[in-house]
Amino acid sequence: MAPLQREIEQRGRRIFELVDKYPESLFSKAGFYQRLMTLSMRDERFKTQLFRFVAVLPSLRRSSEIIQHLEQYFSDTNNGFHALVGTGVRLARLFPWISAPVLRWNVSETARQFIAGRNPDDVIATLRKRRAQKIGFTVDVLGEAVVSEAEADEYAARYADLLDKLTRETKNWADPLGINAELFPVVNLSVKISALYSQMNPAAPADAIAHLGTKLRPLLRRARELGAFINFDMESYALKNTTLELFKTVFSEEEFKDWPHAGIVIQAYLRDADRDLRDLIDWGRARGTRFAVRLVKGAYWDYETTKSRQNESNPPVFLQKPESDANFEALTRVLFENESIVTAAFGSHNVRSIAHAQAVADELGIDPSRFEFQLLYGMAGPIKRALVEMGYRVREYCPIGKLLPGMAYLVRRLLENTSNEGFLRARFAENVPAKELLRDPRELIRPAVAGIGSSAAALAKAGDLGGVISSDGKNATSLRAPPGDIFKNAPLVSFIYKDNQDKMQSALREVRKRFGEKHPLYIGGEKVWTDNLTPSVSPAEPSEIVGYGTEAGIPEAERAVKAARAAFETWRWTPFEERARLLDRAADILERRRYELSAVEVFEVAKAWSEADADIREAIDFCRFYAQQMRRLGRPKLTQQVPGEESYHHYWPRGVAFVIAPWNFPIAILCGMAAAAVVTGNTVIMKPSEQSIICGAMLMQIFEEAGVPAGVLNFLSGHGSVIGAYVVDHKDVDLIAFTGSREVGLKIWESAGITRPGQRELKRVICEMGGKNAMIVDADADLDETIMYSIYSAFGFQGQKCSALSRLILLEENYDRVMERLIPATASLRVGNPEQPGIMVGPVIDEPAYRRILEYIEIGKKEATLAYQAKELPPHGYFIPPTIFSDVKPDMRIAREEIFGPVLSVLKVRDLDEALEVANGTDYALTGGFFSRSPDNIERVKARLEAGNVYINRSCTGAIVGRHPFGGFKMSGSGTKAGGEDYLLQFLVPRVVTENTTRHGFAPEQTPEYRDEFLWPKPES
Ligand SMILES: Cc1cc2nc3c(=O)[nH]c(=O)nc-3n(C[C@H](O)[C@H](O)[C@H](O)COP(=O)(O)OP(=O)(O)OC[C@H]3O[C@@H](n4cnc5c(N)ncnc54)[C@H](O)[C@@H]3O)c2cc1C
Repeated sequence: MAPLQREIEQRGRRIFELVDKYPESLFSKAGFYQRLMTLSMRDERFKTQLFRFVAVLPSLRRSSEIIQHLEQYFSDTNNGFHALVGTGVRLARLFPWISAPVLRWNVSETARQFIAGRNPDDVIATLRKRRAQKIGFTVDVLGEAVVSEAEADEYAARYADLLDKLTRETKNWADPLGINAELFPVVNLSVKISALYSQMNPAAPADAIAHLGTKLRPLLRRARELGAFINFDMESYALKNTTLELFKTVFSEEEFKDWPHAGIVIQAYLRDADRDLRDLIDWGRARGTRFAVRLVKGAYWDYETTKSRQNESNPPVFLQKPESDANFEALTRVLFENESIVTAAFGSHNVRSIAHAQAVADELGIDPSRFEFQLLYGMAGPIKRALVEMGYRVREYCPIGKLLPGMAYLVRRLLENTSNEGFLRARFAENVPAKELLRDPRELIRPAVAGIGSSAAALAKAGDLGGVISSDGKNATSLRAPPGDIFKNAPLVSFIYKDNQDKMQSALREVRKRFGEKHPLYIGGEKVWTDNLTPSVSPAEPSEIVGYGTEAGIPEAERAVKAARAAFETWRWTPFEERARLLDRAADILERRRYELSAVEVFEVAKAWSEADADIREAIDFCRFYAQQMRRLGRPKLTQQVPGEESYHHYWPRGVAFVIAPWNFPIAILCGMAAAAVVTGNTVIMKPSEQSIICGAMLMQIFEEAGVPAGVLNFLSGHGSVIGAYVVDHKDVDLIAFTGSREVGLKIWESAGITRPGQRELKRVICEMGGKNAMIVDADADLDETIMYSIYSAFGFQGQKCSALSRLILLEENYDRVMERLIPATASLRVGNPEQPGIMVGPVIDEPAYRRILEYIEIGKKEATLAYQAKELPPHGYFIPPTIFSDVKPDMRIAREEIFGPVLSVLKVRDLDEALEVANGTDYALTGGFFSRSPDNIERVKARLEAGNVYINRSCTGAIVGRHPFGGFKMSGSGTKAGGEDYLLQFLVPRVVTENTTRHGFAPEQTPEYRDEFLWPKPES
């Protein structure tokens, strides 16, 4: 055995001996909590329900509500607790005044186990007790998510107050070890950066640093005066780079350059951790003053992996627990090797990690008084005691705050304590032997997936499958089953990375250089120019012309229909695989030109960076998804297995499709509709919106580069009222795919119903129109989430999404609480030119839109109460201030008509019955949302809300191809679902071919489920 391992085992055993000397359960308090934890570890479903119940409980005000929730959460769990709950609920019904408070008390006690006090005065008593046990403290302020600058200011004040009070109360406290005390001030504050600025955006670190610097400096100054220590905690990965950058920036400033009492956290579960730590150490050396690092594994593992999987991107964290452990050990060594500049703290309850740190310190000759172990309040008491007894420094991390805001923290702790992977569970709940617990984590890493982790491997495997299927180019796969669900969405670009921020900046510069470029029409494979050029201006700076589109008139429109008609005769007989591959190639090009296209959108339609990127991502997804769907639908499928007869169901294209797209998703929607039409074998005339011609022209370029045959896709820009109407009415046009306003949509619907002389087909119309989308907020809703998602849904891209939130329906019980936070949160939004990163609200698309929205605001002022309107706006551009109306009634115009701008109406209702009535009481049914933590109410809304897309406890915008097939009904649309598996059927006519296969009574036994396409002449294999 290697000497280091021997030493670790020895030290580990010693810790365990000391732990066993004062036996105490895993958690400091027994009883209710203990029993629940034991049950949770046995039963995953129960655990989920329990944690959800714990999270909602503090926000329930009446006993009856508590009992209802208890019943709803646990009625179908099946583990003994079920019976207990049943009895409990029966009892509670009889004696609600006793049962509910008892339950609430129990949960409060559980929370209190992890929360050191409600306020600074409260916490002092705890800190004194710990002092007697030679345990120091670092104090953290728990709170709700900070959604406004008012809340951030409140936080900063609480930190400052805490600092003063703690210093006063601990004036005469001496260092527990009495040596190297200057490295470890008694008062130690752990600060969460996200609590100090509400508009943090990973794409805009400079903005965050500027704001946070202003907030932090007074606090740091005061801490320095008082001789206290300030630590920056580390939160989710999205904030990591900004937090590191902020730390380096502020502590390089003249005023703080020589102050040694600043620390930051490094999370060993991150793949970046080694690079970040080394970078910090280099920075520290250059700065020339000591600083501290608390090494932890990381508290957001579940969050990071879930988020990444949702985005189909590689998680930033290791996926095997021993990888995090091994990295923790590697970084421990890095810290000790650089002890001359960095003071180390180890935030862990894992005896192996702790023993390893001790052993390495010993090996490198570092005195135990020069570093510390930090452990969480309310956890692993025996380990703390053991460490003190061994002569080490121990500091406890003590959160302060009220129960309700402390819930997120509490749930994180509960998760950690019951995690299958966790050390505490293994040691204290499952009694895993010491030898096992002290093993070298490097031996436990499964080699096959080391480095990339299991889920990445699984993703890669799914990708391989995709590869097999998409390379299946032959039209002869008769007996093979259709491809399964192997579609993978393209990940969003993460602007957390500086590299990606730089790429976006450089794309913006490049696109700006091309301002004023002229773009032709594209008809029958030829570039076509006319005498009329239409300028496309930037909504943020209307004096800037992004580019010019060629304006088509009737002759060009006629030429385009002819070209499409002519091309149809060949394209319709082109094997579907070839058509699908065209889309795959287009997706590849979109991917390659992703930043450039996003930059064009930023200028031409004023999308914020991430919104523009999401649009390009959607276009990529549409191409890949429809290619995959065509491969599924393309092969004729046997209807029934009948002896002596075969009937194959298959599809033909409809003919010439006219695609009319809006400007608000200027590439995605145009691309989605055109791609669907092309891949199904139709030929297409695509017309972009007059406000986004350049985006349309770019998409045409992409298809051209992808090799679309002449005439299959034609590009016609110009006035909808002229060429649009002409092409819709044309006898040779068979299908119209439209997304846009209700007014135009209904005209098209009507006009397409008229059969014209010479017309071959009944025109098919795919029509997606507007919305007047509602979100209902239940009495027990999580307000942090409600505010964040409502704000994003209402004001993201200036409210110009057909899915945007425009009616917020609040139950009266919650009304004041929501409004109290909603208005300051809206007031904190960054309004500006979206060319700047981190802008949330930009200008609206053009002057007519600007005027129309202002008119609606005037109407709102007359009908309802103006609850909030932003005041400061950029001087140029079509900026509309984010606006909120209250006292809105369902029959008012602002509650019924689509406004398509950053205007939100708030409606107050009595209960959920009325909320549903109001929500469903409009002409539209596009998206709708509900915030609630009542399982029954959630079920009810899922069943009854009239919307094509119903979203629970999340934003009502941001549909993802394949995952959230998108589209509404009533006056929102004809009931089709873009990005759904039945979408392509709208572009096809079904056909069945039946053959009697019996010859003189003899028939084949089996008929293949799929056969080759019906093509003649047969394609060469
Ligand atoms: C004093 C103190 C301060 C802290 N401050 C912060 C902070 O600022 N920011 C922060 O994020 N955390 C912080 N933490 C929380 C800390 O990260 C967790 O408590 C800690 O990760 C638990 O690790 P452990 O070594 O005690 O236990 P262990 O049981 O050894 O490790 C559990 C940890 O392993 C990791 N893990 C679990 N499953 C996997 C897997 N499948 N693959 C890879 N890794 C996995 C996770 O990080 C998990 O928390 C702090 C902890 C302490 C004690």
